[in-house]
Amino acid sequence: MKVVVTGGAGFIGSAVVRKLVLQENVDVITVDSLTYAGNLNSLSLVENKPNHKFIRADIRDGEAMADLLAREQPKAIMHLAAESHVDRSIDGPAAFIDTNIIGTYRLLEAVRDYWENLSAARQNAFRFHHISTDEVYGSLGPVGAFRESSPYAPNSPYSASKAASDHLVRAWHHTYGLPVVTTNCSNNYGPYHFPEKLIPLMILNGLEGKALPVYGTGENIRDWLFVEDHADALWQVVINGTPGEVYNIGGEAERTNIAVVQMICDLLDEFVPAEQPRRELITYVADRPGHDARYAMEISKITRELGWRPKHTFESGLRQTVVWYLENRSWWEATRSGQYARDRLGLGSNS
Ligand code: NAD
Repeated sequence: MKVVVTGGAGFIGSAVVRKLVLQENVDVITVDSLTYAGNLNSLSLVENKPNHKFIRADIRDGEAMADLLAREQPKAIMHLAAESHVDRSIDGPAAFIDTNIIGTYRLLEAVRDYWENLSAARQNAFRFHHISTDEVYGSLGPVGAFRESSPYAPNSPYSASKAASDHLVRAWHHTYGLPVVTTNCSNNYGPYHFPEKLIPLMILNGLEGKALPVYGTGENIRDWLFVEDHADALWQVVINGTPGEVYNIGGEAERTNIAVVQMICDLLDEFVPAEQPRRELITYVADRPGHDARYAMEISKITRELGWRPKHTFESGLRQTVVWYLENRSWWEATRSGQYARDRLGLGSNS
């Protein structure tokens, strides 16, 4: 089986690629344009494997996508390429519209053309898997959880652009018959997470004795899923999901942001004791505009139909994550210094 993974040099995409190449023995073509978030160092475990190939290409380039599909003849596409950081979407929404909406549209058109020219048997077996977020459903009050039937109510430019892409994917199924599956997932965390995101930022700042900035009062609630559990769920959906269906994925691990930061402080104090307890580094900063209060996912559909459940508790996953950052200093140092981006241009460390 051959699978194209778009955005495979990103945080979740690289976890998917590592799983497929190393555990499932699938032939994987990683397609990534290598924005600031694309990091080839996250693929170092697979780079010399015969069943992995990396292609630098942009999903907005319909012709490049069409050529690639015609050449590689994949059985499935897992579409993770996106602009993914909410704060960046507030500062500059254009890139989010461009990649998440226009890029998904161009990719869908290239895929449709490829799929329409397959034999009937190969058409039936083909899957286009669109990977999306719980943020499309908006914000929850203190109780309840998002279901697959929850109305869309995105609040940030990021979630609005992902919502738009979800609708395009749905329409390409209903209008053209493309066999798509869509998943909406809660917040991921784990190894190889770009240091601008909450959990790695707090781990690295805490390690270096820097301030730990928490938005507002820190009472916003997120549901957290260990990234390798997400990769397992995505693979289940590709091989066993029903075309046209949506599956919600979540960790059943709701935590306030402040509780997450406090847990990280305590883990760091345990592994790397410092004179000042890390909790004293916590500082509250002005809240993010339009900050959603609470997300939670109802995951009974994927559990019932595909037998998937998260394997990690938040406590075990977070401990594993902190240990990974302590043991993989070279990965995050290269990421934070920008070295990872210079390396891929072949410019060396002094350029
Ligand atoms: P990421 O930002 O770490 O990775 C995105 C990858 O896409 C990068 O490697 C980047 O280079 C690539 N990319 C961006 N624009 C591209 C383009 N035009 N052409 C080709 N490649 C391009 O993101 P992530 O956190 O790994 O998220 C992956 C997907 O999962 C996204 O679609 C995101 O919306 C979704 N998602 C993320 C989370 C989360 O918590 N991180 C939760 C649910 C869903």
